Amino acid sequence: MFECPNCGEKTIKKWTKFCMGPIRSTRCSHCGVKLSVPYKSLYIISALLILIYASPRLGIRGISHLILMSFYGFIGTYGYYKFVPLIVKLEEGDAGYKEQRRNNTFHGLAYFVVTFGAMIALTI
Ligand SMILES: [Zn+2]
Repeated sequence: MFECPNCGEKTIKKWTKFCMGPIRSTRCSHCGVKLSVPYKSLYIISALLILIYASPRLGIRGISHLILMSFYGFIGTYGYYKFVPLIVKLEEGDAGYKEQRRNNTFHGLAYFVVTFGAMIALTI
């Protein structure tokens, strides 16, 4: 169980956090605040996609690639649980809502640019 960053109660199940992306949110069953993970967590997916995509191009193929992908998946999941914090997702009218939304847009776009930019760079 993970602690709610607002009230400190352990109300968030591991599976709930696993299924939560920056776009998805859940409510704390104790204080009712909307919770999510920061858009920056997308960079973990970005790194995994780039590694999975780059490996065959670096000569890692077949069973080695499968083993490596499992390893990447494990590291990514571990990193997500260990280092990605739960955050209070501000709602319209809350102080700092616009700033959070602006940051989300920036990191959301940066995720696409970094991920697909790297894949295009690796392809050509
Ligand atoms: Zn709470």
